[in-house]
Amino acid sequence: MIYTYAQLAWLCSEFGECPRCAGIPLHERVGPFLEELIVAVQEGRPGARLWWEPWELSEGQVFTVVDRINADHFGLILRNTIA
Ligand SMILES: [Zn+2]
Repeated sequence: MIYTYAQLAWLCSEFGECPRCAGIPLHERVGPFLEELIVAVQEGRPGARLWWEPWELSEGQVFTVVDRINADHFGLILRNTIA
């Protein structure tokens, strides 16, 4: 299970100076990051599912990521406290 929170605490800001992240919106970086983790999990535990619990991401960011990610071996955990 991957729990993400306080977006600027775990990924660079798109407005920062990081050459890999500058100008790239968060939702365009999270999906590929999660997909790489899914692949890594499959290598170690074939058939296992990676669960993602987004926290402090906007609804738009979460839905954009989920719409683009390959749903095989991926699960989404939502809390009722998310807006
Ligand atoms: Zn960065």
